[in-house]
Amino acid sequence: MELQECEEAINNIIEDIINSKVTIQNMNNIPESEEIPLEIPHCLKIEDVTCVFVDMVNSTKMSLVSEESVKIYDIFIKSLVKILVIYGAEYVDIKGDGAFGLFSNKDSAIPALCAAVTFRTICEKVIQNKFDVFPVKMHAGIDTDTVLVKRIGLRGDRNNEVWIGKTVNIAAKLASLAPENTIYVSDRAYKILSQSVYEKYLKYSCGCPSGTSSQLWAEYINNHPFLMLEKYYALQSCWCDKHGKEYCSKIMSIYKKKNT
Ligand SMILES: [Zn+2]
Repeated sequence: MELQECEEAINNIIEDIINSKVTIQNMNNIPESEEIPLEIPHCLKIEDVTCVFVDMVNSTKMSLVSEESVKIYDIFIKSLVKILVIYGAEYVDIKGDGAFGLFSNKDSAIPALCAAVTFRTICEKVIQNKFDVFPVKMHAGIDTDTVLVKRIGLRGDRNNEVWIGKTVNIAAKLASLAPENTIYVSDRAYKILSQSVYEKYLKYSCGCPSGTSSQLWAEYINNHPFLMLEKYYALQSCWCDKHGKEYCSKIMSIYKKKNT
C-alpha cells in the first residue's frame, strides 16, 4: 500500500518537474528567503558569491552524551553565526557541527576571510580553554563563484534554500580537508584576496615579535579530483594579537570604501 502510494507520488513529482521550463533571473545580491522562489520552476542567479564554511574538528570524537557536549555545540555555533552576521553575511545556515555564511559582491571573499580569521582567534583564545573534556578546534573553507538558488520542499516550514553551483560545496570540502585551526581558500577566492589594494595587510604577516615578516599564504596544487580546482591556498602564518585586530579593521575599511 505504502509502496504504491510512494510510487504514484514520485511519478507525479517527476512528471511535473520534467515538463516544466525553469526560468532564471539575475540578481545583484543575495535575496531574503521570502523572495526566493518555492513553488514555481524559477530560480535566481547571483554572481561573485563567496561561501565561508566553518565547522568543528573531530566533533565525532566528542562521544560524551552530556550537558557539557550540548554547551560546546551551543557556544561554537552561536559564536560562529554571530561573527558571520557581524561581518555582513547575507545568508547563514547551520550545517551539523558548523555553519556557512554567504556574501555577495565582487570582493565578497574579503569579509568572508575576516569572519573566518576572527572566529579562529576567538576559538583559540576564548572557547578552547573553557572545556577540559574536548579541545574545541575549527577549520574553514572559502570559495567564490556564481550560484543559482531556489527554495525546495513543501509550503510552510518544510522547505529550505538550495544553493546550486560549486561555491557551498567546494567551501565545505575545503573545510573538511583543512587541518585544525586552518583556513583553506580556493584559487578563485584567492584571486580576490590577492588584489594589490589589500596587499599591505593580506600578503605578509606583521612580523612580530622577531621583526621578520613571512608569507601569509601557502599554495597547494590540487590533487583531490572531487575539489575541481587547480590550486588552493592555506592561510599559514598569522598576525600577532595586536596587529590581527588592527589589520582586520583596516582590510574591512578598504573593502567598504571600495564597494560602496
Ligand atoms: Zn604584530
